[in-house]
Amino acid sequence: MNVNQSAPPVPPFGQPQPVYQGYHQSSYGGQPGSTAPTTPYGAYNGPVPGYQQTSPPDYFKIKSLGIPGWFSGSVPKVISQSFSFCPLPSGVSRAPPSSEAPPASTAQAPCGQASYGQFGQGDVQNGPSSTVQMQRFPGSQPFGSVPLAPVVSQPTVLQPYGPPPTSAQVTAQLAGMQISGAVAPALPPVGLGYGSPASLASASGSFPNPGLYGSYPQGQAPPLSQAQGHLGAQPPQRSAPPQASTFTSPASGGPRMPSMTGPFLPGQGFGGPSLSQPNHVSSPPPQALPPGTQMTGPPGPPPPMHSSQQPGYQLQQNGSFGPARGPQPNYGSPYPGAPTFGSQPGPPQPLPPKRLDPDAIPSPIQVIEDDRNNRGSEPFVTGVRGQVPPLVTTNFLVKDQGNASPRYIRCTSYNIPCTSDMAKQAQVPLAAVIKPLARLPPEEASPYVVDHGESGPLRCNRCKAYMCPFMQFIEGGRRFQCCFCSCINDVPPQYFQHLDHTGKRVDAYDRPELSLGSYEFLATVDYCKNNKFPSPPAFIFMIDVSYNAIRSGLVRLLCEELKSLLDFLPREGGTEESAIRVGFVTYNKVLHFYNVKSSLAQPQMMVVSDVADMFVPLLDGFLVNVSESRAVITSLLDQIPEMFADTRETETVFAPVIQAGMEALKAAECAGKLFLFHTSLPIAEAPGKLKNRDDRKLINTDKEKTLFQPQTGAYQTLAKECVAQGCCVDLFLFPNQYVDVATLSVVPQLTGGSVYKYACFQVENDQERFLSDLRRDVQKVVGFDAVMRVRTSTGIRAVDFFGAFYMSNTTDVELAGLDGDKTVTVEFKHDDRLNEESGALLQCALLYTSCAGQRRLRIHNLALNCCTQLADLYRNCETDTLINYMAKFAYRGVLNSPVKTVRDTLITQCAQILACYRKNCASPSSAGQLILPECMKLLPVYLNCVLKSDVLQPGAEVTTDDRAYVRQLVTSMDVAETNVFFYPRLLPLTKSPIESATEPPAVRASEERLSNGDIYLLENGLNLFLWVGASVQQGVVQSLFNVSSFSQITSGLSVLPVLDNPLSKKVRGLIDSLRAQRSRYMKLIVVKQEDKLEMLFKHFLVEDKSLSGGASYVDFLCHMHKEIRQLLS
Ligand SMILES: [Zn+2]
Repeated sequence: MNVNQSAPPVPPFGQPQPVYQGYHQSSYGGQPGSTAPTTPYGAYNGPVPGYQQTSPPDYFKIKSLGIPGWFSGSVPKVISQSFSFCPLPSGVSRAPPSSEAPPASTAQAPCGQASYGQFGQGDVQNGPSSTVQMQRFPGSQPFGSVPLAPVVSQPTVLQPYGPPPTSAQVTAQLAGMQISGAVAPALPPVGLGYGSPASLASASGSFPNPGLYGSYPQGQAPPLSQAQGHLGAQPPQRSAPPQASTFTSPASGGPRMPSMTGPFLPGQGFGGPSLSQPNHVSSPPPQALPPGTQMTGPPGPPPPMHSSQQPGYQLQQNGSFGPARGPQPNYGSPYPGAPTFGSQPGPPQPLPPKRLDPDAIPSPIQVIEDDRNNRGSEPFVTGVRGQVPPLVTTNFLVKDQGNASPRYIRCTSYNIPCTSDMAKQAQVPLAAVIKPLARLPPEEASPYVVDHGESGPLRCNRCKAYMCPFMQFIEGGRRFQCCFCSCINDVPPQYFQHLDHTGKRVDAYDRPELSLGSYEFLATVDYCKNNKFPSPPAFIFMIDVSYNAIRSGLVRLLCEELKSLLDFLPREGGTEESAIRVGFVTYNKVLHFYNVKSSLAQPQMMVVSDVADMFVPLLDGFLVNVSESRAVITSLLDQIPEMFADTRETETVFAPVIQAGMEALKAAECAGKLFLFHTSLPIAEAPGKLKNRDDRKLINTDKEKTLFQPQTGAYQTLAKECVAQGCCVDLFLFPNQYVDVATLSVVPQLTGGSVYKYACFQVENDQERFLSDLRRDVQKVVGFDAVMRVRTSTGIRAVDFFGAFYMSNTTDVELAGLDGDKTVTVEFKHDDRLNEESGALLQCALLYTSCAGQRRLRIHNLALNCCTQLADLYRNCETDTLINYMAKFAYRGVLNSPVKTVRDTLITQCAQILACYRKNCASPSSAGQLILPECMKLLPVYLNCVLKSDVLQPGAEVTTDDRAYVRQLVTSMDVAETNVFFYPRLLPLTKSPIESATEPPAVRASEERLSNGDIYLLENGLNLFLWVGASVQQGVVQSLFNVSSFSQITSGLSVLPVLDNPLSKKVRGLIDSLRAQRSRYMKLIVVKQEDKLEMLFKHFLVEDKSLSGGASYVDFLCHMHKEIRQLLS
């Protein structure tokens, strides 16, 4: 029982994080919360809670006086002699994991590994996986190589499918489009003041040429729903949620929308979480509603979007859909690439366009609200295998009872097919989006740290999986059978415990590793590079001081900020001071290193001009403890802006800067992070020199992919060296023109770092955003020099990985750094048959060095169900996670394939997924009906958003750098981030009572939902707009903008005046709360209706047709329906 007896204290290194000791039973079972040790991550739940923007404490201001001038005299001396650092044993660091334990199928432990405690050095990693053969090499995988099995191809597997799970299917009938001439469109619903119906027509008639963006005609109609007319012949058939009655059939021509923006739904999730815990809300929930869970129909006022459970909402079909839409000649093939889609290309149109009623097709808003209402109030308890968690947009608490929280792992499906044939038939990607160091809300405890002393964590001898709740103890507790590879292992004497009558260890609930889904182990020296415990990491600030950086005010701003920010470096546990050391470098064509040793009266500069052969000119005094060297550091930061104030140097180097930082860490024998602040294309003569190769003419050609590829291999090579050193690179870019983000971001991307881009940076306009990002970035808790391994039970294995990391083999994800925002998406494939009874298990093990230099292992376990019925798969899917995976897959695909091919592949896959459902799981119905699985009813709308995104279908205003930047960002996004990024949140501000404390319910991202008498906020995690309708009441204008009329509002305003009235306070408060929920600061842009800037804003109304040729939701759904029918015929 006593954990401590088997866990000798291990104090060679401090334990800032409370080590697990004893694990009170009392606190377990519920939330370990209150009694839980404080955690190092606790502080990160908000937007930098502890940090104050105020100026640095007086004491160091005083000390920093009187130093000016040290530079002007003697300083710039060029040091040319090279220093000999003791070369670090290279390559020694980690034994190749593959050196061990062959994945034999027998249960014998490999030689020498028979007993506990014998972990050889080879275990430094997480050990070899149980499988050896990897067929896919991440990174080199050509896009689109996944064989798309014809949906109908494997009847054998299906026989057993019984009657379809009625509850899980949504039948949307697309047919209805009986258009009676011009009728319907005539009346825009009341309240939709904006956008005249007339303009609608034109929108659908002529598709704006993507290239004409600039000349966007003011009158251009919003791609309003072409749905108007037709209004599906019949209203959705709902299985009568109470409110159903309020639904006005669109067919009736009545006002469509009034309810959309309607009254507040009490308790609506929108407001909830965000306000209180900014960073969290967005955590991970999914969407798949197990059929039982159900959406209870639309709450009150909101429009009838759909379904309740049973056959969700089912639009009656009138049969006309098929013939009209299906066979249309111009429809099919050209779709993705051709802007003609959806616009009903003129001539060959046999019938008048049939339109769907936008209110009759699945609404993201409704699905999100339903999930909040149904699942937001109860904690999500992880004890049951294969449970689909609430959506990421729902605020909920998690109780760990044996499976990892969805904040750490989300899956595309929680019930995976038993055989690969079934999986191929369904085409549903089997993937997990893993955020190993995810931040948690304050109510949830960080993982316990388990200390097994010198023997280290207990693992399976063969597959090296770590002890977890799924391991089966046998023979009275003397042995255990591995749940991943079935190997029988001895239980070491110090770990022995008796079993109860159910075969469970009697101490199971006293040990996190036997009862929780997530926990940490203190690693032994065997898990450390060179068998040495690591030193605390270091941060190196590397500042571009070329002309542009100085002129824009960046350097001065940054130096001023660093003086106080350095007091907030990440700490662990309750320690007062961060263990992280800091160093400083400035550069243009040459590099300047600074000696800031505490014993110096003044900082010293050393210049290295030989950038071709970078070395670090000083060791002692370069990396220092902030509090010890505070005076010298402050002095340095005061002087840097002065020193370079008159610079004329416009050229910069880039690769040598990273090289220098990495060499400095190597010399100091530690891991760490480089913070690079860079302004221009590095054209100075040096390794990694780049040229301007931007060429928009390549768009939509086979060479477009080159825009996303780095222009030289030098950066990959450099990144590899950085990874080996545990050197993570965060890059802050301040470009005034093309800087080749695709190439510059290679190192950050491969080292687990972040890239921030501030185009045309100006202190006045951008300082808030930059400083906010910087503060958050510097204070982030980071795991350094990390290796992640995902093990699976027999039958499936991880085959592909997406994210910001490096892989030198097929199984180990190497992360020079990993922070709480970064995710790694892992795809699984079958390599054997799975068993319904035993299910499938995942174990993600992350070995990393904490901010204090402690080596730890974080373990996350997750058990999934397995099924022999396809319907079970479809009932337990999570569309938000699917989209996260599909976006990452596509965004990697553009590196190797034409963008059009990538889009086509996505469409085909989506159609196959839905066709398979229709064929095998849905109840028989006419071909004119589009039937979507309940859990995937938003797949088409979300997929369309991915297809229309800047990377896959850029508008004329999107630069090559923007596309490369977004591509890179999405790669590491979690599910909540991709959800809002692809389908932005649009909040009406003046519809609900000002007194209301909660966020207003969102409306669908379509121009049609905007009323010109209202004001809206739109956010997607990166951008934030405040849209002001032209007919907004004067009082509102006055209250918010402090001007007397609409015309006096400054378009493009980025800060709202601080006014003392309820509306102003509420809106500013809401903006703050939205910002707090996101990992990057969103700069506000005020957009007036009919103003030029409105184009920018409309780009985010993703249900509408886009100027770059992206289809409207309605059109895309019709297209998808047609694709599905083709597959089925
Ligand atoms: Zn095993």
